Amino acid sequence: MKKLFLILTFTFLFASTVFGQTNDPLALGNPSNAGTELNLPGNYLVIHKGFTLSYNKERGAANWVAWHLQKSDIGKTERTNAFAPDTTLPVEWRILPTDYSGSGYDRGHMCPSKDRSDTEYNNQQTFLMSNMQPQAPKLNQQTWKYLEDYTRELVGQGNEAYVYAGCYGDKGKLSNKITIPTGCFKVIVVLPEGDNELKRIDKTTRIIAVDMPNDESVSRRWRTYLTTVDEIEKKTNYDFLSNVSKKIQKAVESIKDQSTEQLPQKNETNVPAKKNASKEREYQLGPRGGCYYLTESGAKKYVDKKHCSEVKDSTAQPAVREKKEPEPKDNEPKKENEPTEPESKPAEKPVSKDGRTYIKGSRGGCYYINSSGKKIYVDRGLCN
Ligand code: MN
Ligand code: MN
Repeated sequence: MKKLFLILTFTFLFASTVFGQTNDPLALGNPSNAGTELNLPGNYLVIHKGFTLSYNKERGAANWVAWHLQKSDIGKTERTNAFAPDTTLPVEWRILPTDYSGSGYDRGHMCPSKDRSDTEYNNQQTFLMSNMQPQAPKLNQQTWKYLEDYTRELVGQGNEAYVYAGCYGDKGKLSNKITIPTGCFKVIVVLPEGDNELKRIDKTTRIIAVDMPNDESVSRRWRTYLTTVDEIEKKTNYDFLSNVSKKIQKAVESIKDQSTEQLPQKNETNVPAKKNASKEREYQLGPRGGCYYLTESGAKKYVDKKHCSEVKDSTAQPAVREKKEPEPKDNEPKKENEPTEPESKPAEKPVSKDGRTYIKGSRGGCYYINSSGKKIYVDRGLCN
């Protein structure tokens, strides 16, 4: 055992020296200093293969979920829809997939399904209920999703990303268990692919921070909700990027992402609702001039008329299409099955992953040894 441990340690040290790479979702910091003691029910650290979170028993959801995204995470595995309770939590803390039933709120992923589509196992993990928040359907299926799509586009263009996502506020409970948040935030640190991320973060590092309302009034355009990390820190009391020097934090956390604001303000109204795009609604003009779409059950749902002007304004389409903006259009969601990066192979045996060496215990548990020499038990999948 000891020998194996040494071999693993050396393998890791070698790998990290040569590649300098750590995909630990918390490489940039643990925003709320979450810990693995069970007497921390409001800030309990859960490490899954693929993402790490701070669980809040009282909310029945995570305070935040953190993950690292790189090209190889995105593959061809279809959504497994494997909604399941998170069994790494004590039984009485767990949320069941049915706890959201009939509530009118979506089970909104924090770490998106598609961000873990390299293997079936990794995709299943994203369906753990600890990775879900009650999100208004329009937020989950449109605004929030378009930013998820955009992040994957950035990764497809040669970047990697560290992402923190969470929800805050309280407007009631689902099933007497799950707090319905008033808003959800996201902090996305974008870096060109490479090693030693922590050393590469400087005053010019791009950070996309958004804060979105959790209701149907939300605009489809995620850029409406750009904000600064400072603002989100003030609101949530978390400290993002705490492993980065104070000086650099001070610089990057006060900047609202600008690079997208040079775009003409056309986005929201000129792009037609796409036919057949999965989950994209098709707005229809009603006989009396109202604007509606058909819900899954076939009922007409009337919405703001501006949605229909997108469909009507067909003359604007070719002009928009031809213009070929260098900036990806976040509001034209990609079809789910569009081929992504061909080189995305499943990761090698993740025994030493995320900067840690995971060890299979004698009773089948999986753990790593933290800096104070303590065994920290984690999701068993990490040892596979
Ligand atoms: Mn979602
Ligand atoms: Mn900070």
